[in-house]
Amino acid sequence: MSTNANDSVSVGTATAKPGEMVRGAIPGLDMAGGVKVEIPVIVINGADAGPTFWVNAAIHGDEPEGPLACALASKRIDPSKLRGAVVLVPCVNPMAFSAAERGNPLDTFAYDMNRIYPGKPDGYFTDRLAHAHWQAMKDVADMEISIHSGGAHSFLDKAIFVDERPESVELAKAMGEGWGCIMSNFTKTGSPMAAMNSVGKVGITVELGGRSYTSPERFRYVGEELAKSIVNICYHYDMLDGQATYPSDATIGQQEALLAPSSGIFLPEEGVDFLKMMKKGDTIARIINVFGDEVGVLRAPADGMFFGLRALPNVNQGDWCCFFNKVEGPRE
Ligand SMILES: [Zn+2]
Repeated sequence: MSTNANDSVSVGTATAKPGEMVRGAIPGLDMAGGVKVEIPVIVINGADAGPTFWVNAAIHGDEPEGPLACALASKRIDPSKLRGAVVLVPCVNPMAFSAAERGNPLDTFAYDMNRIYPGKPDGYFTDRLAHAHWQAMKDVADMEISIHSGGAHSFLDKAIFVDERPESVELAKAMGEGWGCIMSNFTKTGSPMAAMNSVGKVGITVELGGRSYTSPERFRYVGEELAKSIVNICYHYDMLDGQATYPSDATIGQQEALLAPSSGIFLPEEGVDFLKMMKKGDTIARIINVFGDEVGVLRAPADGMFFGLRALPNVNQGDWCCFFNKVEGPRE
C-alpha cells in the first residue's frame, strides 16, 4: 500500500521506520535436519510518502542476475531521499538458489515456484513457501517486478512480459532505455506477476542474462542494467529525484519458443542478433551434423526478433533453441 510520511513498513521480521533501510526475512519452513528456510528481504522505507515498489529475484535458483541487481540497487537508494518504499527480495527461492537449480531439488512435486502462486498453506513444500511470500507481499506491494534470466540453459536479452493493462505497460516502459521488447504474458496464472494482477495491482516479469553471460564483465553488465532499471522505476514514479529514460522503439508482440527441426550443432546465421527486427522466413540459424553437413534450417516464424538463445549449441530435434518475439507493431 502507499505509505504515509510517518508509517513504518513491515515485511516478515523487517520493520523499517521512515528514512530507514532494514534487513530481515519472511519466515518459511523448517527442514527435517533443523535448518530453517526463510526468504531474505531488504525494506527501504522512504522519509516521505509514496507508493511501495516490490522487487522479486531468484524465484528460479539458476538465475543469479536478480540477486546481484538487488544488491547493487540497495546501495543506490537513499531512504532519506525516497518517497514511498522499495522492498527487495533478492532470493525468493533460497533452496533452489543454494542448489543453483531452477527449482528446489528436494521438492519435485512443486518444482517450478513460478507456476504455483499464490501458493497453498497446506500444499507441497514450495507451495507453502510461495504462500508465505504472497501473504507478506499482497497487502504491502503496489507494483512488483520479477527478475528472471535464461538461467542454466540460455541467455535472454532485455525482454518484458506484461498483462497489457495500461498500468502494466507503464511499469514495463519505466524499466528504461533499451527495454522495448515488451510482450503479452504467456503464463496467465501461477507467477507472482499473475497473482498481483489478479488482485488488481500491477506486476511484470523482466528477463536479462543467463548462462552465456556469466563472464565477469558480462555478469556485472547484467547486474548494472537491472539495478539501473530499479532506480529508473523510482524516477518514473517520482519516488526519487532524477530523470527517467524510456525505450524509444517499444513493440507489441507474443513469445514463441522455437524448437530445433533437426539434431546437431546450432549455428546462428552471421549478422543476426538479439532484438534486431527480421522478416518472416529469414534464416535465424542452420543446424549442421558432426560431419559438417547442413541438416536443418531455423527460420523466423513471423516478422519479429529473437530475444533468447540456448547457451550450448548442441541440440536434439525438438529441443527449444530460440525465444522469438512475433512483433505485431509498435507500442504508442
Ligand atoms: Zn526464471
